[in-house]
Amino acid sequence: MTDGNHAGAPGTGRFEPYFKRLSGARKPVFFTGAGVSTLCGIPDFRGPDGVYRDPDAARMFEISLFDADPAFFYSRAEALVYGGGGVKPGPVHEALVALQRAGLCAGVVTQNIDGLHERAGSSPVFAVHGGPALHHCRRCGDEKTFAEIQAIRGGVPGAVPRCARCGGVYKPDIVFFGEGLPQDVWLGAEALVAESDFVTVLGSSLVVQPAASLPAEALRRGARLAIVNRGATPLDRYADFLADDLAAFAAAAEAFLAT
Ligand SMILES: [Zn+2]
Repeated sequence: MTDGNHAGAPGTGRFEPYFKRLSGARKPVFFTGAGVSTLCGIPDFRGPDGVYRDPDAARMFEISLFDADPAFFYSRAEALVYGGGGVKPGPVHEALVALQRAGLCAGVVTQNIDGLHERAGSSPVFAVHGGPALHHCRRCGDEKTFAEIQAIRGGVPGAVPRCARCGGVYKPDIVFFGEGLPQDVWLGAEALVAESDFVTVLGSSLVVQPAASLPAEALRRGARLAIVNRGATPLDRYADFLADDLAAFAAAAEAFLAT
């Protein structure tokens, strides 16, 4: 399929060949990482300003530490997980929703745990590292929504939410180091990528496994790959299209869709 209407769209700049290819793709899929959310003020895990540069923060997602000292997590998770500072979906989140409306995004697989693709309106979204939409009590399994957890925490920064039934601690359904990926989400992401002949990686350096194996698997199956990321990735040399500026990608998508 080609879409002559969009060929040579003004304002797409160096992304013109990318959008030409996207227009002809079968069920194009987007794979996103932290770079997409740093545009919204969420700290990047691994970028130059990443929270992982703080050796303390690097341990905040370790499950053994969470169970031993949940305050360690909750005292560090405000900006990243609990929306401190009123973080909203950014230009790339919005661009993917617009591309979806135009039939150019069959779904999003994200490594991010901030829920911003869902809030922006993308669907389906497979958050392979989970997210804080639900929390479960570590002791009795009681389930609470994000809003219920925030009510329990009472707006106190760093507060540890405890279960009224058993006194256990609630943990967000984020995949911590030492935990497996949510199986249903993972299988959904695999199925989505398997149907696509064009995968675009946005803001991921493709180093966190097994999530980063999804674009690699698409390549092995013969799908084309585009990568927009600040910094190199292990798959750069296999990509048909490479760029480093996510804000420029979002602006080019807007220009492309306006034609
Ligand atoms: Zn409980």
